Amino acid sequence: LTSGLESAWSKLKGAEVLTKENIAEPMRDIRRALLEADVSLPVVRRFVQNVSDRVVGVGLIRGVRPDQQLVKIVHDELVNLMGGEVSDLVFSKSSPTVILLAGLQGVGKTTVCAKLAFYLKKLGKCCMLVAADVYRPAAIDQITILGNQVGVPVYKEGTEVRPSQIAKNGLEEAKKRKTDVVIVDTAGRLQIDKAMMDELKEVKQAVNPTEVLLVVDSMTGQEAAALVTTFNIEIGITGAILTKLDGDSRGGAALSVREVSGRPIKLVGRGERMEDLEPFYPDRMAGRILGMGDVLSFVEKAQEVMREEDAEELQKKIMSAKFDFNDFLKQTRAVAQMGSVSRVIGMIPGMGKVTPAQIREAEKNLKIMESMINAMTAEEREKPELLAESPTRRRRVATESGKTEQQVSQLVAQLFQMRVRMKNLLGAMEGSSIPALKN
Ligand code: GDP
Ligand code: MG
Repeated sequence: LTSGLESAWSKLKGAEVLTKENIAEPMRDIRRALLEADVSLPVVRRFVQNVSDRVVGVGLIRGVRPDQQLVKIVHDELVNLMGGEVSDLVFSKSSPTVILLAGLQGVGKTTVCAKLAFYLKKLGKCCMLVAADVYRPAAIDQITILGNQVGVPVYKEGTEVRPSQIAKNGLEEAKKRKTDVVIVDTAGRLQIDKAMMDELKEVKQAVNPTEVLLVVDSMTGQEAAALVTTFNIEIGITGAILTKLDGDSRGGAALSVREVSGRPIKLVGRGERMEDLEPFYPDRMAGRILGMGDVLSFVEKAQEVMREEDAEELQKKIMSAKFDFNDFLKQTRAVAQMGSVSRVIGMIPGMGKVTPAQIREAEKNLKIMESMINAMTAEEREKPELLAESPTRRRRVATESGKTEQQVSQLVAQLFQMRVRMKNLLGAMEGSSIPALKN
């Protein structure tokens, strides 16, 4: 997708104003790029129309290049389409809140149940899972195991009991236990069919959920729009959860969900671990669809690392020569994230470009460094001198991380070099002289 948009932007080079004519070709490229990202065709059509309309009505902002304006408009329009802002889960006034999960087989419903319970637990909510997928005994085992893993009770009955009955009984049990949130897992099919919809309707009626969330695999291609439409018409959804965003799909399904249902994506799953569930940020998703990677995450991360107090603390540490491997890790991570920023810069014509090979190289190096730092004890991380003084310790780190002793020595040397450099830099900035650290 990135390459598609890149060529679209370059066609605008030299233009002084955005016109119907000079955006025609870039818009065609954008259209193709969105289709490549698996956004459903009708959604793409409407999107391109919207953007074109906005562009024609908009006067040129002085000092902003036309290509940059188009980037901004496309980005904003994508964000709009996906609901603009984070959309929180709704809780009912009287406990328990019931959340019903629906979706095709294999999209990640059962995993989401446990992840969601884990997520809500961190917000101080007491949760219970209900196993209303009774078609395979393995499904009940799976949710039981996941429930245990996150320390949340699972309500279950035999496979012969109707799902709606289980859901109802589960809700009663939750009331007795004064549970805050009940999450109901349901059975999916590989394809939409009437039996599944009827069962979902029955379960929904039995527990009157506050949230009916459609779980959608982000790999779902062109069919996403039809899928969401059917579920919404048949059972009425209040929102969606997009799973498997850790894969390499561009997430075109995200665009379709809101557009066809008017319902927001509330959460996204980005991995198989229980902590891999987070709010859905339309602006980040727009960045992803545009190939901007995690620009916004980067900004946040950089802020996190460089928060004022942090920066101050870092400064203090450097001044007292205490810059350690923990700080080192924070710093290198922030730098590694720059890779995605460089990509965005690379998209803008006339700006420098970082090659993918360079980014990959930086990422590889970071992984190697991380594995070595992970093999250090907490004490060693805080006192790199220990490693500088002891070949035995360095050998241990090398063995545990599967790297060579030379690599470990290099890393240790690098840390001390960084201390010196940073100290000098700081000295230069403050106009005072700080003696360089001896190593
Ligand atoms: P269900 O049939 O909808 O209940 O789907 P499951 O919860 O059983 O998940 C199907 C498979 O997808 C399992 O192997 C999960 O580990 C995996 N899975 C679920 N969510 C994610 C995710 O966000 N990322 C990745 N990589 N895998 C996931
Ligand atoms: Mg399941």
